[in-house]
Amino acid sequence: MDGNALKEPSFRESVDLMFNRAVSLMELPPGLEDKIRVCNSTYTVRFGVKLRGEIKTFTGYRSVHSEHMEPVKGGIRYALAVNQDEVEALAALMTYKCALVETPFGGSKGGLCIDPREWDEDELERITRRFAYELAKRDLIDPAQNVPAPDMGTGEREMAWMADQYARMNTTDINARACVTGKPPHAGGIQGRVEATGRGVQYALQEFFRHPEDVAKAALTGSLEGKRVIVQGLGNVGYHAAKFLSEEDGCKVIGIIERDGALVDEAGLDVEKVSQWIRSHGGVKGYSTHYGEDGGAVLEHECDILIPAALEGVINLGNADRIKAPLIIEAANGPVTAGADEILRNKGVVIIPDMYANAGGVTVSYFEWVKNLSHIRFGRMQRRQEESRHQLVVDELERLSKDSGIGWTLSPGFKEKYLRGAGELELVRSGLDDTMRGAYQAMREVWHERDDVSDLRTAAYIVAIDRVAASYKAKGL
Ligand code: GLU
Repeated sequence: MDGNALKEPSFRESVDLMFNRAVSLMELPPGLEDKIRVCNSTYTVRFGVKLRGEIKTFTGYRSVHSEHMEPVKGGIRYALAVNQDEVEALAALMTYKCALVETPFGGSKGGLCIDPREWDEDELERITRRFAYELAKRDLIDPAQNVPAPDMGTGEREMAWMADQYARMNTTDINARACVTGKPPHAGGIQGRVEATGRGVQYALQEFFRHPEDVAKAALTGSLEGKRVIVQGLGNVGYHAAKFLSEEDGCKVIGIIERDGALVDEAGLDVEKVSQWIRSHGGVKGYSTHYGEDGGAVLEHECDILIPAALEGVINLGNADRIKAPLIIEAANGPVTAGADEILRNKGVVIIPDMYANAGGVTVSYFEWVKNLSHIRFGRMQRRQEESRHQLVVDELERLSKDSGIGWTLSPGFKEKYLRGAGELELVRSGLDDTMRGAYQAMREVWHERDDVSDLRTAAYIVAIDRVAASYKAKGL
């Protein structure tokens, strides 16, 4: 670690510094700036679970950053490094993220200090249920007040346990299923939630590349086709983002960084194969001759798009000036520290900020919550009706062609595609795409129209803070 790295602020301080930078360009009523910045509350719980013949004590947190809208929303992370500073930073980011993508929630985040790989499934279930019990009894899990979701180290399985635990404690709550999102589809979840954050990263990049002036700011040209991508972290978010970008947009994934090293292959890596290797071997080591131990060096490798999709603070004062990617999209929360952000900004690197880039997760969580509250799956009422209206058009076209003797034929595949009414997955993807486009437009307008705003992150904060402020003002606070 060099001298500079020692001056790195904590994660929460880093988020506050970015917030301060944006509010210095805004005119908020006196005192409101502080009210928005501070984290309203953080609950720390220590609980014991009898495991392997002894009582093991665990520490967990649920932090509520802003209740300008309720319920508050945000994931629960399982990792040994979880601490109060981290959950508070992440809760603050949730407030801004929800405001930016217009999901009607305040911001919250939780965490449990645990390495989930150390425990078997039954043990994890007991630990999770006990943690959920501790949170639910204080309304920190509640469909109307606080709705957790997956984050690092948690997924559908943990959410199903939490939802069931809440339902057992609230047997007459008809909306019990809406108490957490990210549940498996058979337990009240929604299609497309698992892929949602990675899908959102893809939609964010697609939207960015629809604007040649923005692409030019990153010293790039053209479309996503052929762009060289490096992804750090092939967990849920990194995997889906890399998979969709390579399989659907023609990007070339030339680098994959994992805990135990990295793979670099200029010819392009097969994301699916690498992911399967990681699942069966626990890392990328041994995958091919393209393996190297130094993941940090690969972060600094030349590429067009860098996708940090793992932990916070990975691009910091210690390596920012060596980063060569002209475009960074923050699939993780807080991967670039405030100091590194400044260095990169001065170098002309374009950063698509976390609060926008990874908002696909909470966006689809919002759809799931609405589905749970409405007690009906999206598309159930209209799908077949839509199909029969389309059938009328196709029948009419075929009749016209026959009666007129012109002999038109429909293009291969058109009929099947046109006739098929949208199911839940199509609707979720459409809603997510629309959300990502809309939020980008809002950020972009500030970025382009204000001379004092030179980066997308500050623009994102301005849009988000403005909306949170409007909500406080409307309440008379
Ligand atoms: N943990 C995810 C995030 O950081 C999802 C939150 C949610 O769906 O509520 O955005």
